[in-house]
Amino acid sequence: MVNIFGSANDKKFSWEKLGNIKEGRPDLGDHLPVEVYRQLEFSLIEVLTKRYGAETSNAIFKEAGAIAGIEFTKKHLNTNASFKDFMTDLYKILYKLRIGILNVEHVEADFSEIIITLADDLDCSGLPPNNEMICDYDEGFLEGILLQYTGDKYEVTEINCWANGDRICRFRCRKI
Ligand SMILES: [Zn+2]
Repeated sequence: MVNIFGSANDKKFSWEKLGNIKEGRPDLGDHLPVEVYRQLEFSLIEVLTKRYGAETSNAIFKEAGAIAGIEFTKKHLNTNASFKDFMTDLYKILYKLRIGILNVEHVEADFSEIIITLADDLDCSGLPPNNEMICDYDEGFLEGILLQYTGDKYEVTEINCWANGDRICRFRCRKI
């Protein structure tokens, strides 16, 4: 029997998998409302939480975010740049793609800890407050970006979130 879903290897994410959007969507183009992105995200969260529980669902989102962060860095960023230039370029591309508005609030001299904020966050800005930090995907995304840039593993934890009543998402990135 043919496995129509293919192997995990066939499903490995890469930028090329996203296809030629200009060619494929000549009329509608490559922009779409944030609510469409959130529609996919929140329906997926419901299914994953129902099947596997909240903890595993969050971990899946974080793991997926890390894969995206690695591929995003390969596609859009120069990993030979200085930290300052790298973060400036990251700010620019996150703004251009409407993912969020990045600010690097604090960097330890040895890069052991970095505090990053995202305003206008794609995943959570504007959500009704529900006493939750919900940006697991962003945590993973930043881990993937930092891993690809530094070669070091960081543990990224969201410490402020719109969904927890703040007006900005703040992430503590600790080298492990
Ligand atoms: Zn958040």
